[in-house]
Amino acid sequence: MMLGLMLARAGIDVTVMEKHADFLRDFRGDTVHASTLRLLDELGLAEKFAQVPHRLIDTLRLQVQDTPLDIDLRRIPGPHKHIALVPQWDFLELLATAAQKEPTFRLMRSTEVLGPLRDGSRVTGVSYRDSSGTVREMRASLTVACDGRGSTLRSAMGLVPKSFGAPMDVWWFRLPRDDGDPPGLAGVLGAGHACIVIDRGDYFQIAYIIPKGSDAQLRAQGIERLHQGVVELVPWLADRVSELKSFDDVKLLDVQLNRLRRWYTDGLLLIGDAAHAMSPVGGVGINLAVADAVAAAGMLAAPLRGGRVPTRDLATVQARRWLPTALIQGAQRVVHARVIAVAVSPGSTDRPAEAPAAVRAVNKSAALQTLLGSAVAIGPFPQHTPVFARR
Ligand SMILES: Cc1cc2nc3c(=O)[nH]c(=O)nc-3n(C[C@H](O)[C@H](O)[C@H](O)COP(=O)(O)OP(=O)(O)OC[C@H]3O[C@@H](n4cnc5c(N)ncnc54)[C@H](O)[C@@H]3O)c2cc1C
Repeated sequence: MMLGLMLARAGIDVTVMEKHADFLRDFRGDTVHASTLRLLDELGLAEKFAQVPHRLIDTLRLQVQDTPLDIDLRRIPGPHKHIALVPQWDFLELLATAAQKEPTFRLMRSTEVLGPLRDGSRVTGVSYRDSSGTVREMRASLTVACDGRGSTLRSAMGLVPKSFGAPMDVWWFRLPRDDGDPPGLAGVLGAGHACIVIDRGDYFQIAYIIPKGSDAQLRAQGIERLHQGVVELVPWLADRVSELKSFDDVKLLDVQLNRLRRWYTDGLLLIGDAAHAMSPVGGVGINLAVADAVAAAGMLAAPLRGGRVPTRDLATVQARRWLPTALIQGAQRVVHARVIAVAVSPGSTDRPAEAPAAVRAVNKSAALQTLLGSAVAIGPFPQHTPVFARR
């Protein structure tokens, strides 16, 4: 949606195909980071964003085993010293509404891309099923696969990302939120399990972390065991945990961390999770996908105006975005191995609960907290909105 908006502002004909009728799915996370908030300023969308219900948080409160860790964002560089928690469907509607003001932009909802069209080795568009169920074709000088970690276009092209594995999956469910409850986002990594509590206004979205592949076995222990686990980690949820009546209300989210070696072929570019699926650690995935889109818009608008995008221009998009992606995925792998795997591994309940040395060091140093805050909320090599897309 971000790439579509920016290219449309450059006067380029863009069609975004979305297989669902709306964006109302709650599995995608909520964090819009300082880097993305600054992009919204540059796009002239700050006022509209302010009207969307959201929470600003300037401190990420974590508890890693015995060590509290507050990541203070108030000293990070730039105009936004916080991250925003905004349901992703509202954020996407905001971008879609802005894009639809451009005469060259078209959003086709309930439209499922089925696969690439090819002319020899070059991708020349897509076949798709439209909202009436009819299969059609659309030709394009460039096709961008931004269809997420289960990318249809990626598999149809036979592209297989390298998987880095992940020690956990996530149970995703809601609990009611009362007015006096703590605002913002809090994470607790205890002995044996972990959970993140996301404030969504009138309810909490809970990400309860379980060992990878243990869903069936843990469900068999019954919902009361989950109630107990939540209360051990977040005792003040005890008065409402029974609102979670059965596992029908608990979705399993399969955590993946992977990256394609090559994010493009002739006529096709892959960005976001389609090129590099992100772990929920740090809540960076949305922001990275947006940054890919901004880089792609800046580098491809000129060749798109010329009607043909040379493959080397697609390579430059990957060259721009590979390092920040690899650095962040590297950091996620370290957190997976040193913090999460330790927290959720069987037997961790029997071990002395001590946080890793790095966590204890950050806890003691305000400078390290600011550095960590900048790494999470801004990230390496942030993108700026191309001049043609600014308002
Ligand atoms: C449990 C969990 C929690 C997370 N929490 C956060 C968080 O708090 N903050 C954060 O920044 N990141 C978070 N992430 C990561 C984040 O969700 C992703 O990195 C991000 O959504 C990637 O964006 P994307 O646009 O590449 O793909 P997606 O958000 O997956 O979007 C892909 C879109 O393509 C559409 N689509 C798919 N196939 C087709 C098709 N064939 N035809 C047409 N349309 C299609 C889908 O309907 C979807 O709208 C989390 C991930 C997990 C697993």
